[in-house]
Amino acid sequence: MQTFKGTKIVNGIAIGKIKIYKAPVYEINEELVSDIAAELERFEAARVKVQEDQNALYEKEIKEGHKDTAGIFEAHAIMLDDEDLIDSCKEIMSEGHTAEFAVRDGFEAAAEMFRNMDDEYFQARSADVIDLKNSMLDVLFGADTANLQGTEPAILVAEDLAPSETVKLDKSLLLGLVTRQGSSNSHTAILARSMNWPTIIQCHDITDDCDGKFAILDSYNSCIYVEPAQYVIDELTAKQHEDREKEAKLQQLKGKPSETKDGYKVRLYANIGGPKDINAVIENDAEGVGLFRSEFVYLDSKTDPTEDEQFAAYKKVLEGLAPRLVIIRTCDIGADKTIDYMKLDKEENPALGFRAVRICLNRREFFKRQLRALLRASTFGNLGIMFPMIISKWEVQECKEILEECKKELQAEGKAIAEKIEIGIMIETPAAALCADELAEEVDFFSLGTNDLTQYTCAIDRQSANLERFSDTHHPAVLRLIRETIEAGHRHNTWVGICGELGADPELTEEFLKWGVDELSVNPKSILPLRDRVRNADLSKHKEDKSPAAQAEAGKPKGLLGRLFS
Ligand code: PEP
Ligand code: MG
Repeated sequence: MQTFKGTKIVNGIAIGKIKIYKAPVYEINEELVSDIAAELERFEAARVKVQEDQNALYEKEIKEGHKDTAGIFEAHAIMLDDEDLIDSCKEIMSEGHTAEFAVRDGFEAAAEMFRNMDDEYFQARSADVIDLKNSMLDVLFGADTANLQGTEPAILVAEDLAPSETVKLDKSLLLGLVTRQGSSNSHTAILARSMNWPTIIQCHDITDDCDGKFAILDSYNSCIYVEPAQYVIDELTAKQHEDREKEAKLQQLKGKPSETKDGYKVRLYANIGGPKDINAVIENDAEGVGLFRSEFVYLDSKTDPTEDEQFAAYKKVLEGLAPRLVIIRTCDIGADKTIDYMKLDKEENPALGFRAVRICLNRREFFKRQLRALLRASTFGNLGIMFPMIISKWEVQECKEILEECKKELQAEGKAIAEKIEIGIMIETPAAALCADELAEEVDFFSLGTNDLTQYTCAIDRQSANLERFSDTHHPAVLRLIRETIEAGHRHNTWVGICGELGADPELTEEFLKWGVDELSVNPKSILPLRDRVRNADLSKHKEDKSPAAQAEAGKPKGLLGRLFS
């Protein structure tokens, strides 16, 4: 048995033969030719053909409901109209080189430019240019690339796969995917995620002589076993069956209500970081977005994003997910999320420092840019706005005043704003939880940020690995604050959700429901498992039993509630 290690992209087990995928290698004529016009014509014909193919791939993906991947091919078709790219190829041909030569050098130079950019996202785009180069060469050489995948179901092993190669694969023959190169930001990784294929990348050492050999891809452990030992086969076959059964059951929960056996309904929403997560929300049947961490829009940008840039991101998410409620949290920068262009002072205790709403309230113009972008985007869907790191009522009032000011400005400019926008705050400090009654008077909803609430309540730095032993995610103090916040919210008709990691903790689901939580917002992949958990819960069994025996027992607290109130 040989074991090759890589980097996990999509969890799963794939069992079958390996097929080494080899894209054709072309020998390009380096000699000069005399008929320049003919080469220009061949180039143009190939460009038009590849563009048509990309548009066809776009249509295909749209039809199959893969909006995210469709966008890749739309971008490819646009890239093929890029004047700089076309001109650089034409210039090479004007020197007497063939169309193939011009495509190789012209597209390589463009890819190199992307590769040298600092931003990882743009670096990954070089793969798109190479993909187009290969498609152009396939057309110019008249190659038949239809059968590179073979005819049997297999675990595909490739150097790297271009998006157009990936999308052309026959999915019914694809058991899993291994690439020697690739990045987690690459479109192939995006495709693999959206298709849910067990996938590892950067599996540098796997060799071509594995072609045709029996193997098991175990991406849970980021590795592939070639000619595995019997005990590995037995163990991983059992794991695959278990996965399939679980997955099939979970898929059946799409469209089903998130409701306990005794009829208690909770809303299951998703936490997202930006437009790239729209598909995950839909695929996992989230009922809305409970936390859009808008700081990722800032973190993804080299400079302070303009109002228009922010507007575009918020609009895309709201439009893509309408009519679902999408709660966008205003910028939560600071502490562990630092940005150079914000030029924040170094602090002794950044988690207790100048962060989130504190920055926004002190940098009014910065804050107003975001609020204006949010208000402008509000007509494209169902928006909720949430302010993070609140400790006092005056902060909420000031946030609302600035929001009002932005509304008035936009109205004066003749811009449309949605009539109803729910306003909420994160409860992630003990101060906010303990003052929840007063804060509730100001807002439509609370969302419990249990990650920070735990850190601040227990004085446990959430970044520190040394504190593992002292950290208790179910600490009774945190649970008590959660329960009391829910109760305080409900006293004032303020609905209450949980968007920190605890929201997805199946051990606590039943407690949260019992306490009356209205919404749980979790990472998209946790939606269906959580729905399963909710649907199997029965809160009626906790309802007070008035019998004498039960009354006698009542003094003896049990379970989590016992820990809380004993
Ligand atoms: C939280 O603190 O629980 C939360 C959801 O916010 P973040 O993890 O982004 O700080
Ligand atoms: Mg937080």
